[in-house]
Amino acid sequence: MAVQAEPSHVKRITVVGAGPAAVSLATALQRRGQLVTVRAPGGLKPRGHTLCAFVDQLDEAVIGDRYPRSVVETEAGAVDLHRAYARIDDTRGRAALAEACTVLDARVDASTVWPKGEVVVDATGHDPVLLRRENANQAWQSAFGIVVRGTDVHLPPGTALFMDWRSAGVDDGGPPSFLYALSGDDGRLLLEETTLASWSPVPTEMLRKRLETRLRRRGTVIDHVLGDEVVCFPMAGGLPRRGQRVAGFGASLGLVSPVSGYSVARALALAPVVADAIVAANADAVGDAVVDAVWTPEARSLRTLQRFALTAACRFNQREASAFFGAFFALPAPQWRGFLDGTDSVTQARSTMLALFSSSTSSLRLRLMAGAWSRTGVAVATDVFRPFFGAGRGRTKTFLTTTLV
Ligand SMILES: Cc1cc2nc3c(=O)[nH]c(=O)nc-3n(C[C@H](O)[C@H](O)[C@H](O)COP(=O)(O)OP(=O)(O)OC[C@H]3O[C@@H](n4cnc5c(N)ncnc54)[C@H](O)[C@@H]3O)c2cc1C
Repeated sequence: MAVQAEPSHVKRITVVGAGPAAVSLATALQRRGQLVTVRAPGGLKPRGHTLCAFVDQLDEAVIGDRYPRSVVETEAGAVDLHRAYARIDDTRGRAALAEACTVLDARVDASTVWPKGEVVVDATGHDPVLLRRENANQAWQSAFGIVVRGTDVHLPPGTALFMDWRSAGVDDGGPPSFLYALSGDDGRLLLEETTLASWSPVPTEMLRKRLETRLRRRGTVIDHVLGDEVVCFPMAGGLPRRGQRVAGFGASLGLVSPVSGYSVARALALAPVVADAIVAANADAVGDAVVDAVWTPEARSLRTLQRFALTAACRFNQREASAFFGAFFALPAPQWRGFLDGTDSVTQARSTMLALFSSSTSSLRLRLMAGAWSRTGVAVATDVFRPFFGAGRGRTKTFLTTTLV
């Protein structure tokens, strides 16, 4: 019997990994009529920890529990973000994908042999198994959290405490941290002491002690501890090297935001864009096609600005971090939203940084300027603060977009 050839626009594509990025991309590829295989240990079984984003960043299909009220606390007071928050729940998407594509419960490594012509996408997360990336200084986000049944009078059900930068009340010399908390309608609380960014991972024990002290000071009543959660992942590692046959997606593609550590909402939003790029590319050029679709010169420049902000964040002490975020969330909502979500143009991000600089205290300004003493910092600071100094526009811009990212 003659074997019927597949139409030329149909590729055989293996997505390696089963995290949120892999699931969204495999779904987008399958919807475009591609022959998709997902390979990961445990197949499409979801993993345990809590993933969240703001509701307006998500499709209805992946919205789980909702937290209609989200707030930020700093020493300057409370800010209502007027932006609902939600847990991401892709359980239905995983079930539908399992029906529509081939799923292999298998680990992949560099010695894995692929069928001829197979397109391979490495979505194995922060430390990709197949994809090679450029070298870059990595910062780390660390947290220790507990899930409890209990009561916190400052956290009514349906509240997401996005950040509480007031001191935990422990002077241990470590980097600043904030409380992140979710208060569900079912009486469950997730309470997490989080270091936004530091040049090395923060010991879990340090965060545990801070969390205990903070909760005592808040008067949080814990009836029953249901579990705990340890967070430690790198932020803003290098972007994929060019000229690879394998493509990346999710954290492996550098989608982790250098200013927040969030990546999942962005991966979900970019999955159709990347799927289109893969479908349109020659099978042996998908790696570069995906990099070009996502990491445009504008996106690279924005990332450089965000990395500058990350460098500053790594230098803050607790008081400075609180003052910085107090000023940040006092900006008009469209301004802080665009910067936080990474949806700004470079021009918008630059004007947000300028507005922040202008509204900061002089000691915070000095701290922000101190971050400029690096190769990236000098170029970014020149670019951001150009309005204060005048000339050099074209030269700085070219340098920024071509040299540093
Ligand atoms: C406790 C915690 C809470 C977090 N909260 C948030 C949040 O609220 N919002 C947010 O945006 N981010 C959050 N993050 C970060 C977020 O989890 C990651 O950035 C995100 O999961 C990256 O998605 P990904 O699909 O690219 O990679 P991953 O989710 O890391 O998935 C990688 C996949 O690759 C598979 N894999 C690994 N090695 C192999 C191999 N050799 N062969 C085959 N498969 C392999 C793994 O099994 C996994 O399925 C949190 C992280 C932690 C630890």
